[in-house]
Amino acid sequence: MAIILDGKKLSEKILHELEEKISNLDKKPSFAVILVGNDPASELYVNIKEKKSKLLGINFSKITYPENIDEKTLLKKIEELNKDDKIDAMLVQMPLPKHINAQNIIQAISPKKDADGITPENIGRISIGAEPFAYPCTPLGIVKLLEEYKIELQGKHAVIIGRSNIVGKPLAQMLLNKNATVTICHSKTKNLSQITKTADILISAIGSPKFVKKDMVKQNATVIDVGTSKSKGKTLGDVDFENVLPLSSYITPVPGGVGPMTIACLMKNVLEISRLRLY
Ligand code: NAP
Repeated sequence: MAIILDGKKLSEKILHELEEKISNLDKKPSFAVILVGNDPASELYVNIKEKKSKLLGINFSKITYPENIDEKTLLKKIEELNKDDKIDAMLVQMPLPKHINAQNIIQAISPKKDADGITPENIGRISIGAEPFAYPCTPLGIVKLLEEYKIELQGKHAVIIGRSNIVGKPLAQMLLNKNATVTICHSKTKNLSQITKTADILISAIGSPKFVKKDMVKQNATVIDVGTSKSKGKTLGDVDFENVLPLSSYITPVPGGVGPMTIACLMKNVLEISRLRLY
């Protein structure tokens, strides 16, 4: 029977360590989040970030704009925050309204204040095997979870389903940097299950409930479920957990796996990039 990768427990450990470190600082980290519009899911995510920040002693500020804000005003605000010595870290809650080019917004954020670790410079640094100022939170959470359970990556075949800029692509680079052999699959991939069946480590980040069935998984594989879909008030992962559990060696639950690790790693990023500005 598989070992459950307990992201909740590890995230609590990380948050506790962060709280202790922050309590010893004279100057507390400051974190600004920009929220555009009234999307309930985005509001919920920002509230979680605010709650966690405040619990850890991080100075949190929320900047809200109406749905119809223009890109220029948003870019001007980011430029202001980039220059503001009182702000250590920031993020813009995604998704943005369609009339705003999200790439332009991400590119405007200083890589040294990039709490999400998704600016081109930070992603580029990872791609050349250099240290970024901050790693993207979800891939970092996954790597920390694999490390905690001492899951070997070197020489292993990691198959990632999903090629988004915030999960699939940066995770592929990070696993490659740890000497895994990496395959990325996406919606146009042919013979998907033939590929996933060769994975020692299978990561699914697509957002389709119970998409990964047991006949797609190799015996004794490690299965990481990034997907989160809402159905009748329940949060569902991409993996058909009950049926995949018996044949895997390690598996993440949803909820309680990758999700809490993402928020813990965001808080870790905020603290770490706030330290950059001291030197
Ligand atoms: P995204 O930008 O929508 O990307 C989804 C990816 O999945 C795309 O690359 C897409 O392929 C691929 N895909 C979709 N259907 C597929 C299929 N049937 N077969 C193979 N590939 C398929 O999503 P994201 O932002 O990476 O998020 C993915 C999921 O993870 C969502 O459920 C999201 O809520 C969740 N998530 C969770 C956390 C967390 O902390 N737990 C963090 C981030 C995201 P194409 O590129 O070809 O379209």
